[in-house]
Order: sequence, then structure tokens, then C-alpha cells
Amino acid sequence: MQCPKCHTIHLKPTKLDDGLLSMGCSKCNGAFVSLLYYRDWVERSGRSHEVPDVGLLKSLESEDSTGALNCPKCHKIMQKYRISGCSSNRLDLCCTCDEAWLDGGEWELLKALELSKEIPLVFSERWQRQVRQQLSEEARRKRFSQVLSEEDLQKADDIRDWLKNHDKKHDIMFYINHE
Ligand SMILES: [Zn+2]
Ligand SMILES: [Zn+2]
Repeated sequence: MQCPKCHTIHLKPTKLDDGLLSMGCSKCNGAFVSLLYYRDWVERSGRSHEVPDVGLLKSLESEDSTGALNCPKCHKIMQKYRISGCSSNRLDLCCTCDEAWLDGGEWELLKALELSKEIPLVFSERWQRQVRQQLSEEARRKRFSQVLSEEDLQKADDIRDWLKNHDKKHDIMFYINHE
């Protein structure tokens, strides 16, 4: 099997984590992971909660492959799934082979987001819907940043968060709206 990104490099068995093998590329550090092995690894290692290092996310450099990739095994085009709304990284999945491609650094990114044991969740419709919501919320904020200052936006966000689950939300809104 050859690396779907580098094309000329042969994938070699590489340890992704303790007890989890993948087929890795020595050039781009990408990894091809069998979801069958992966699920087994999750079962065996348990879903202990890893504590994310907040500083880590910003300094992480994971290269996301923007172009479509072909599965190294069956050569069909792999589907892309965005990991989260706050990073542009996407995981590639071959539904036929049930294998996923992780670009170099994406395993570390998944760990930082506490998702290293939840890869199938990223491929779910529910997760992808959440990502789309995050993205549209971000786009909306960006549009409003053209008319509102960062300070105003921050204040508005704070008020919205405060109101969100407030049992007197409607009374407060009514009070504010009264001129
Ligand atoms: Zn490669
Ligand atoms: Zn395939």
C-alpha cells in the first residue's frame, strides 16, 4: 500500500498509540487505521478521560490534506469529515474498507480534543451537524463583527449565555426591549 498523499512512499506498520497499530507514512506522518482494530483497541484500553492540554491545541501543527484522497487499499475516493468547528482538519474515511486516514498530527489533535477514542463519533451525522452549526455560528459572528466592535460582541455573547438557561429569560427580554 502506498501513501494516498505522497503516492511514492510505501506505508509501513507504525505504532499510533500503545497497542494500536496503523500503516504509517514516514514522509508525511499520515496513518491509515483499520476501524476494526481501532474499536478493539478502544474496548481494551477503556474510555479513560484524557485531560487535554489547553495550550497544546494552538501549537499543534497538523497538516490537513485538502484534496480528495484515494483509499490506499481499494483506491476509491475517501469521504472527508470535519473534526470540529474550531479546526479545519478533516478525517478521511473509506466506507468500503472501514479504514480511516489521519494526516500527520491529526492523532495528536484528536487526543487534544479528547476524541482519540471517539473516532466513529466524528463520522456520525449528529457530530457533523454540530460542526456545521458551529461553523455557521462563527460565520454569523463574523458578519456582525462588521457593525459591532469586539467588545460589544463579547458583551452580547456573555448576555446570551447568561440568558440561555435563565428561567426568567422572557421577562428579562421584555424588560430590556421596553423603551
Ligand atoms: Zn505520505
Ligand atoms: Zn478502501
